[in-house]
Amino acid sequence: MTTTITPLIAGNWKMNGMRASLDELTTLAGIMTTGDAPRAVVVICPPATILAAVARQGASSGILAGGQDCHPSAAGPHTGDIAAGMLADAGAQYVIVGHSERRAAYGESDDLVRAKAEAAMGAGLKPIICVGETEAERDAGNAEAVVASQLAGSVPEAAGQHDVVVAYEPVWAIGTGRTPSNDEIAQMHGAIRRLLVDRFGERGATVQILYGGSLKPQNAREILALDNVNGGLVGGASLLAKDFATIISAV
Ligand code: PEP
Repeated sequence: MTTTITPLIAGNWKMNGMRASLDELTTLAGIMTTGDAPRAVVVICPPATILAAVARQGASSGILAGGQDCHPSAAGPHTGDIAAGMLADAGAQYVIVGHSERRAAYGESDDLVRAKAEAAMGAGLKPIICVGETEAERDAGNAEAVVASQLAGSVPEAAGQHDVVVAYEPVWAIGTGRTPSNDEIAQMHGAIRRLLVDRFGERGATVQILYGGSLKPQNAREILALDNVNGGLVGGASLLAKDFATIISAV
């Protein structure tokens, strides 16, 4: 049986973006609503301060909003944190969890990432669960084992009943301009697909697996055409509407 998976292109603005950045969203919406409709679901994950504005403004052009992180609890004494329900209340439909920058800077474990993904699903959000090896782990020949272990630990059991997205982001490719070869990407995405199907059966066959790490207008077409690459998580190149639109149209 052939399974059709709707591609997803998500932009991770990280800690970039003021209210003036909404102009970039206007430009993106303008490009997206001119000519052929995009073949991908398009999501922007801006800083939380402008999430509600992005959700409001994106609605008319089909651009969805997502958070960049959430707390595993629904509410409580967690100064500076944001609950998944708050993101949903601000208009988000997705949330990134387990980004390697958070795993590295805040020591986020697979258990914590899984708890965040569970909180996201509980709030009606689709978690974009990030996994990926460091350069040393790849050089040691451990990339697949590392990713398999992150997947096992970070993807909740409830993913069998809910929509989740997995993003494969080799840590060494993020923001560096370097990417794995197409064969390496296809091999890792194939391995992730097999693990998802082994664990979740048919459901695992339809989970979107995104590639992330220096995806840009110049390499998007070839990477997004690889087997089991169902879209991309885009950092730097999502900040400029023109570049992001080129990646979207490469689907
Ligand atoms: C990211 O941080 O999720 C990312 C993919 O970044 P970049 O595209 O800039 O490598």
